[in-house]
Amino acid sequence: MTRMTHLLERNEQFARTYTPAALGLPTAQVVVVACLDHRVDPAIVLGLQLGDAPVIRNVGGRVTQAVIDDVAFLAFLVEQLSGAQGPADTLFEVAVVHHTQCGAGFLADPSFRQQAAAATGLPEAALEASAVADPRTTVKADVERLLSAPLLSPKVSVSGHVYDIATGRLTTTLDARYPQWNRPQARRG
Ligand SMILES: [Zn+2]
Repeated sequence: MTRMTHLLERNEQFARTYTPAALGLPTAQVVVVACLDHRVDPAIVLGLQLGDAPVIRNVGGRVTQAVIDDVAFLAFLVEQLSGAQGPADTLFEVAVVHHTQCGAGFLADPSFRQQAAAATGLPEAALEASAVADPRTTVKADVERLLSAPLLSPKVSVSGHVYDIATGRLTTTLDARYPQWNRPQARRG
C-alpha cells in the first residue's frame, strides 16, 4: 500500500490525454524559484503548462548555493539548446518568488531554530538562512545574492515577486535586472 494510490489514479487520467513535448527551450523564458509550500505551487498560481518554465523549489524559495548551481547549469543548457538559432543576447529571467505566511517564518525565532537544529541535525546558521519573516526583505536579499553570484551568466536577468496567500495575487517588487558587473552588450562589444 502507498498513499500515492489516489494520486496514481489522477496520473492515469492525466496520461490518457497526454501529448509529450520535445526537449526544447522553456516557452515562457522564465525560471521560477519558489517555496516548496503546497499552497504556492507555481504551476497553478502562474498557470504554467508543461514546457513553459523550469521551477526550482526549496524551503522559503531561498537563493542557496544549490539554486545558484542549478541556474548556472540551466543557462548552459539553454545556450546549448538555442545554439541552432544563433547566439542569444538573453537566455531567461529568474523570477524569485517568496510568499506571506511562509512556514520558514518560524525559523526567524531563535528558540524554534534551536529546537529544529537539535531535532534535524541541520546547522542553525543554515536554518537561519532559510527564514522568511518578511517576504519583501528576503526577496530583495536573494535577488541581490543571485545577481552578485560569479557563476551567474551575464545573459540571465533576475526579478523579485511576493505572493500573497490571502489574495492569491503575485506582486512584482523588483523588476528584472542583469548582473551589474557584466552586461551582455558590454561583454560582447
Ligand atoms: Zn513558504
